[in-house]
Amino acid sequence: MKTKPDSYDTQDFFEFLDGDDEPGHSVLREMRVGAEPVLALFFSRDSEPVRLHYESDETVQSYLHCAGAGCCICQLGAAPTRFLLLSVYSLESRAVEVLRVSEARGPGKLRTELGILQEQEDLASTLVSIARGKNYRYTVQVRPLGEHADRGSAAIESFLRARKGGLRLSMAFLTMSPLEMAEVPRIRRKLDAIGIRLPSAGNSKTSADAADPGPDPSEVGEEDSDPEAPAEGH
Ligand SMILES: [Zn+2]
Repeated sequence: MKTKPDSYDTQDFFEFLDGDDEPGHSVLREMRVGAEPVLALFFSRDSEPVRLHYESDETVQSYLHCAGAGCCICQLGAAPTRFLLLSVYSLESRAVEVLRVSEARGPGKLRTELGILQEQEDLASTLVSIARGKNYRYTVQVRPLGEHADRGSAAIESFLRARKGGLRLSMAFLTMSPLEMAEVPRIRRKLDAIGIRLPSAGNSKTSADAADPGPDPSEVGEEDSDPEAPAEGH
């Protein structure tokens, strides 16, 4: 609907062939941190705060943006979690990826463990390895980047250009309107159980609108706005 003219800029046809059509996804991906350390370069101190929900329904199984006023998951009683998003260069994928850092502090928390980066004199030449072990405990280690290592200059440059052109780190995460959230089976079941009614999804609001920056609170019935609504079914 509110498509900006600049989104009709040229697009690489092969990128179109490979691209996925899931609403809200873009070429920017989240860095997946597991037991095997990921290797990253922190080339920027630029960051973006976001508020996300984890949606466990099998059709989603990922983090998605809190839709703000009218957000169905908030109405089910779950507050969104605040994260800071950082852009890092992955030496494995050879692409700039988005690292999601929770606001939580303490031993084993990523935010605290990344504190080691503040001690690095030449961060651009520092190889950072990040792993996530049992109980979501993170370990972060640093070492000098190998002399012949890939420094990701081309990928970083093109990322920085896109960033100037409006690319946001938050685009690495799914965006759904309240109406789209209400179509997720798990959310639908709980809304129905509690008796929260949203306007019928039959009114032509489709996933094609998923990239809209924010929900329109007026789309949600006023009787639905009680933030204290109990989460039943647990
Ligand atoms: Zn929410």
